[in-house]
Amino acid sequence: IQSKLPNVGTTIFTTMSQLAAQTGALNLSQGFPDFDGPDALREAVARHVMNGHNQYAPMPGLPALREQIASKVARLHGRAVSAGDEVTVTPGATQAIFCAIHAVIRPGDEVIVFDPCYDSYEPATELAGGRCVHVALTPPSFAIDWQQLTDALSPRTRMIILNSPHNPSGTLIGRAELERLAELIRGRDIYLLSDEVYEHLVFDGVSHASVLGHEELYQRAFVVSSFGKTYHVTGWKTGYVIAPPALTAELRKVHQYVSFCGVTPLQYALADFMAEHPEHVDALPAFYQAKRDLFCDLLAKSRFAFTRAAGTYFQLADYSAIRPDLDDVAMAQWMTREHGVATIPISVFYQSPPEDLKLVRFCFAKREDTLRQAAERLAVL
Ligand code: PMP
Ligand code: GLN
Repeated sequence: IQSKLPNVGTTIFTTMSQLAAQTGALNLSQGFPDFDGPDALREAVARHVMNGHNQYAPMPGLPALREQIASKVARLHGRAVSAGDEVTVTPGATQAIFCAIHAVIRPGDEVIVFDPCYDSYEPATELAGGRCVHVALTPPSFAIDWQQLTDALSPRTRMIILNSPHNPSGTLIGRAELERLAELIRGRDIYLLSDEVYEHLVFDGVSHASVLGHEELYQRAFVVSSFGKTYHVTGWKTGYVIAPPALTAELRKVHQYVSFCGVTPLQYALADFMAEHPEHVDALPAFYQAKRDLFCDLLAKSRFAFTRAAGTYFQLADYSAIRPDLDDVAMAQWMTREHGVATIPISVFYQSPPEDLKLVRFCFAKREDTLRQAAERLAVL
């Protein structure tokens, strides 16, 4: 068979989680919490399953859930989005990203992505007949290189994919950068896909600069989020897309035939929980910042070098002082097999990784005892 995705193999997330399971290592690789979502949320799912909410949800999502999403957006970003015409619930942010790309990308179109970038953007673009143009973000700042971005633009550029808070670097795009981007693409026929799945995981008193808060950019944007990250339930694979009505209409044409709708009882439970606990999202920065700080304070006793993540539940660390002889994939394997801590190497998120990249990514969405145990094992390296 002639593969449509000849360069795609097993994802690094699967590979490292499997290796962690085989070796019994603490799994700080694939991004997911080792604790459960709120009791009331999980009980609500059970209630809705038992109460007969088990048939197809409406194609764009349960109206009550879309209303809750719209109220959150109004409260946090001051934007009145229409639950009817601008909010679509999807089975995971991954499906949202796939549908947004397929809604607007045609054969020959170019999509600009910033490396290191999340692994689903490129295959989705290629299946739509498009091509990714990679602009590298360079450690340690991982800031946008505006000259490189300007040079990457071409008459074929149809989309730019942003991701803030950024996986894997934990860095943020600020309001000033959004403004600069708006100036750069003004008058051009370019859509934005803003992957904001870590929107509530922003630390040190900073507020998340959402594309939803930028009028001009929003008019050409698909803004994607994930309930998995926000409610500690990554296995529920439930997310959403917010986009202006004309873009939403095109997105729904794709979503309608990729999955038709998301899982019904989960949507009922999320709608109930969001209505009853609007404070859940406000408590997330402090909740995850405490985990980041616990992990980083302990990691400071090791020979890893790092700058604390500004957002997400990922912490990058440089291991140059420990095993400069190993590339990051070998380092991740060695740490998993020999020292019982699984991580993700960063080079796999790049088309061409910078020379001498010695960074691994730890997921700190873990219980205190897991973080302490992991840090103890890392301290002896
Ligand atoms: N985008 C980024 C940057 C992510 O880290 C993830 C989570 N793995 C996703 C999208 C996908 O989210 P979901 O699990 O809701 O599909
Ligand atoms: N987003 C998660 C991560 O970056 C992984 C999701 C997946 O396994 N596809 O670790």
